[in-house]
Amino acid sequence: MKKGTKIYSILKNKCPHCQEGDFFEGSFFKGKPKLTCDVCGTKLTKEPGFYQGSYYVVYALSVAVFVTVWCTISLFFKSISFNGMLAAIILSLLATAPINYPLSKIIWANFFFKFKAKE
Ligand SMILES: [Zn+2]
Repeated sequence: MKKGTKIYSILKNKCPHCQEGDFFEGSFFKGKPKLTCDVCGTKLTKEPGFYQGSYYVVYALSVAVFVTVWCTISLFFKSISFNGMLAAIILSLLATAPINYPLSKIIWANFFFKFKAKE
């Protein structure tokens, strides 16, 4: 994976600006972004409530999970009932939520921060 790309920052959980410091305070699953990067000192929270915008990203990720599960089940289990389909979709959304929420925050941050390599 190439450093300097947004995918690198997202998948490695690195600061979107320098891609060296960690983005999250503690574990990824706690999902709490640091206030400032330890390496470059960039303010990772631009304003109070900055990460509320990441709910749009969670929505997009959830729709992606929904469509994937719905298509997969429709292809391989043609005789499934409506309630079975609903249960499978709800369970898969609940199962992916602990990943989707922190992931949405780092994707949201990558919309607003540009990579700049250290000199
Ligand atoms: Zn940084």
